[in-house]
Amino acid sequence: MPNSAPESYVYCPRCGTPLVTRLVTDKARRACPDCNFIYFTDPKVGVGALVVEDGKILLVRRRMMPEAGKWSIPAGYVDHGEDPAVVAVRETLEETGLEVAIGELINVYFNEEATDSGASIFILYRAERLGGELQAGDDADEAAFFGPDELPELAFASTRDAVRWLYKQRPADSV
Ligand SMILES: [Zn+2]
Repeated sequence: MPNSAPESYVYCPRCGTPLVTRLVTDKARRACPDCNFIYFTDPKVGVGALVVEDGKILLVRRRMMPEAGKWSIPAGYVDHGEDPAVVAVRETLEETGLEVAIGELINVYFNEEATDSGASIFILYRAERLGGELQAGDDADEAAFFGPDELPELAFASTRDAVRWLYKQRPADSV
């Protein structure tokens, strides 16, 4: 359960007064008794691109925690003010070297057990390769296409769900 009142947040970012914990709407939150700033623990949002070619799915091996060493869909975090579709294009380019165009929304996943370093909401788009050369980079140390019978160890429930969805919707010989 995400902490809605992180006690490690000591001072008001707006006026510097020590924060207190109090009930705001339905949750205990850190709040400033002086200027009424309230710290709302916003969900961390991730976005990924599902690229499929010849029945094979594009995956990257994660260099970073969480789930370092396992394979996931190319993905990244959405920062404040960013369009998730734009982030998906950028992250795919950085992690795989491929330029893609974003297609349909496949699903929005909710991960109740996400830690502070993981996304609790994950948006997955289908994407189509426009160009580029397959070349791992950024948070990925390998990038490759995998068929349904040759999948590596997958990171994240969302990646496993997406892979299952893909091969149920479209058996490998018809993708
Ligand atoms: Zn304040």
